[in-house]
Amino acid sequence: MKDIQMVDLKGQYQKIKTEIDTAVINCIESAEFINGSLVKEFQSDLEKYLNVKHVIPCANGTDALQIALMALNLNIGDEVIVPAFTYVATAEAIALLKLKPVMVDVDPLTFNISVEHARKVITNKTKAIVPVHLYGQCADMESIMELSKEYGLFVIEDNAQAIGADYIFKNGKTQKAGTIGHIGTTSFFPSKNLGAYGDGGALTTNDDELAHKIRMIANHGQAKKYYHTMVGCNSRLDTMQAAILKVKLKYIDEYIAKRQWTADFYDRVLPIKSEIQVPKRVLNSTHVFHQYTIQLPKEKRNALQTHLSERGVPSMIYYPLPLFSQEAFKDNTINPSDFKTTIDLCERVISLPIHTETTNEILDYICTSVLDFFK
Ligand SMILES: *Cc1c(COP(=O)(O)O)cnc(C)c1O
Repeated sequence: MKDIQMVDLKGQYQKIKTEIDTAVINCIESAEFINGSLVKEFQSDLEKYLNVKHVIPCANGTDALQIALMALNLNIGDEVIVPAFTYVATAEAIALLKLKPVMVDVDPLTFNISVEHARKVITNKTKAIVPVHLYGQCADMESIMELSKEYGLFVIEDNAQAIGADYIFKNGKTQKAGTIGHIGTTSFFPSKNLGAYGDGGALTTNDDELAHKIRMIANHGQAKKYYHTMVGCNSRLDTMQAAILKVKLKYIDEYIAKRQWTADFYDRVLPIKSEIQVPKRVLNSTHVFHQYTIQLPKEKRNALQTHLSERGVPSMIYYPLPLFSQEAFKDNTINPSDFKTTIDLCERVISLPIHTETTNEILDYICTSVLDFFK
């Protein structure tokens, strides 16, 4: 079996090469490298796709989180609730702004923030909550928005992994991930579901005032050139990345469907072994499968990874440590019994290759390799 990858970006490019090459060359010929017209065009296309009033492109998903927090007028020491099982960026932006990330455990079925646990850590300093739609499936947004109303909390959806997913409300209404909270943030890192050919990110909001402020912050705190109303930063999406993303956005639903097809394949085959727990799909969200993450008995996880790697099958552990066990976020006041699920998942999860270029042949090979391990 030739060269299996976690994400096959080369194969994906080959299929849209003509369009991408033309877009890139046009951008170079126009010499509109910064804030070119294609940034606005992509922004407007993404607003339509997500059905959201404002998309504000920026330099990457971590900046998007930081800018979102900067837009909320928080004070040093204010508390922001985050899941303990997530990528570091979620907490990083909070800590950088001298706010306090307050970690809570996640739900064992969805890997997403437990609203029940979040409720327990709310104090009079709690100002915001950052649910992460981990692996491509939405957190329980309806309950989070209720909590937000009850306690006056801002909600920032970290939508880096779930762009294109639909949240399904109890009344059947659907809304795209990242457009439900006060602000959504996303990343166009190349391996993300809508990936650029370099760094990129965006914020989403339906609030005109927040949108105006976010735009200013991302642009040196200015609405008018050389008149700086507030301290901002410099966070832009390159025109070339916008040109590439504009092409790729046309295929996003096709890409999502291929990821779902891949997940369905794994779902059919892997549960043959009772020790493999495949990802749970919930009723209140579609799943765009940024990752396909299975759980194994602890003592088998690392051994499976070695076994797969010997057969040329890559796999990843997202994430090996809870946030509070990371050197940078060490918190000695943490009580492990409050984080049973997070701690358990860090020892049990393993993500298998999933991307837009999988084939029956590749998936057969991966599944056989996984199942062989349990013989
Ligand atoms: C990728 C990711 C980010 C950060 O995005 P960058 O563009 O790499 O800065 C933030 N949060 C989550 C959950 C991510 O997966």
